[in-house]
Amino acid sequence: MNFELDSNQKLIQEMVREFAVKELEPTAVEIDQSREFPWKNIRKMAELGLMGMIVPDEYGGGGMDFLSLAIAVEEISHGCASTGVIVAVNQTLTAYPIMQFGTDSQKKKYLPVLAGAQKIGAFALTEGSAGSDPAGMETTAKLDGDHYILNGSKRFITNGEEAGIFIVFAVTDREKAHKGISAFIVEKEFPGFAVGQHEDLMGLRATGNCELMFDDCRVPKENLLGEEGQGFKIAMNTIDTSRIDIGAQAVGIAQAALDAAVKYSKERKTFGKPICEYQMIQDKLAEMACRIDAARLLVYRAAAVKDAGVSRYTKEAAMAKYMASEACMYAVREAVQVYGGYGYTKDYPVERFFRDSKVMEIYEGTSEIQKIVIARSLL
Ligand SMILES: Cc1cc2nc3c(=O)[nH]c(=O)nc-3n(C[C@H](O)[C@H](O)[C@H](O)COP(=O)(O)OP(=O)(O)OC[C@H]3O[C@@H](n4cnc5c(N)ncnc54)[C@H](O)[C@@H]3O)c2cc1C
Repeated sequence: MNFELDSNQKLIQEMVREFAVKELEPTAVEIDQSREFPWKNIRKMAELGLMGMIVPDEYGGGGMDFLSLAIAVEEISHGCASTGVIVAVNQTLTAYPIMQFGTDSQKKKYLPVLAGAQKIGAFALTEGSAGSDPAGMETTAKLDGDHYILNGSKRFITNGEEAGIFIVFAVTDREKAHKGISAFIVEKEFPGFAVGQHEDLMGLRATGNCELMFDDCRVPKENLLGEEGQGFKIAMNTIDTSRIDIGAQAVGIAQAALDAAVKYSKERKTFGKPICEYQMIQDKLAEMACRIDAARLLVYRAAAVKDAGVSRYTKEAAMAKYMASEACMYAVREAVQVYGGYGYTKDYPVERFFRDSKVMEIYEGTSEIQKIVIARSLL
């Protein structure tokens, strides 16, 4: 067992950390308030190869490992949590299922575009009445000659307003329950596709999150991803992988909260001395540091297991995502406490960290769902 990152991973960590401090942190407050999708920074990240790190080099990506991506997502999220999830969704939720299940021509057509961020990707599984239980989805796809005709809607789609390429799940055979779900690659320009209402979120406000509508949306038959009826498997396989990055995102936000709390505790004085000299404040900092490190190790382990080529890493990914999101919520809550009243204002970043963090325990499967997945692996 080796707890050291290799030299490439260390280089990526340093490079992304520097980029996040210089380019992402300064705009994080502004885009949180304006809800502006950070296209400028996405273009810069594409130039640095950060939008297609795991995409094989033959398709214009970096051909890197999943641990490198997790490290990058952590550092990006340390600077700006909205940008962190945008990057993760483009890669593990959109490019990855095409890499795993796509045909040669789908890979050639879509992967270079996603890796270069000429178009950004999105993943559309959730519906108004189907979140934790996606098999209950109502969107349908019917084959009609050379096209599938999609009808229905999706909710909460990260990147949705700005994306050009969508992985969309729909029922092709209701009688087969989850085995009757199929996956499609949908382009924004396909007739019958429309971006719906913007989701006015508590945090991660610059992620273009919205509803998607499919009204007799015509999807060419060749845009079926995998085989008909394979959609649920594709969704679960994809989510296993992307949970590692959500864990990384949570670790990045948590570390940003700890760094801010340490700095502030040395500056703020009460009763004539800096608050970092009080044991109750030290207790908070120590507890935050331990939980964050433990979460980071679980995230790195899940990524390393994936990189080692182990076929099932569902449990490792769920543990990483669950513990990292809990550690993150703990860290941001304590960071706000260290800041006292100022932590409750928009003058300091911990207020934004607090809002950005809650969804870590909700999306890509709630904490309750992660525990169901973990328990299933034990029973
Ligand atoms: C900011 C944001 C971004 C998102 N991005 C995307 C995206 O890009 N693509 C996408 O497809 N979806 C996305 N989602 C949707 C997200 O994955 C779902 O919100 C999440 O899976 C929970 O589903 P739900 O909201 O329908 O909650 P529900 O499923 O209605 O759950 C409500 C509550 O019941 C609990 N619960 C449900 N079932 C059980 C059970 N069996 N046992 C115990 N407790 C249970 C849940 O844990 C939760 O606490 C996003 C959501 C948000 C908020």
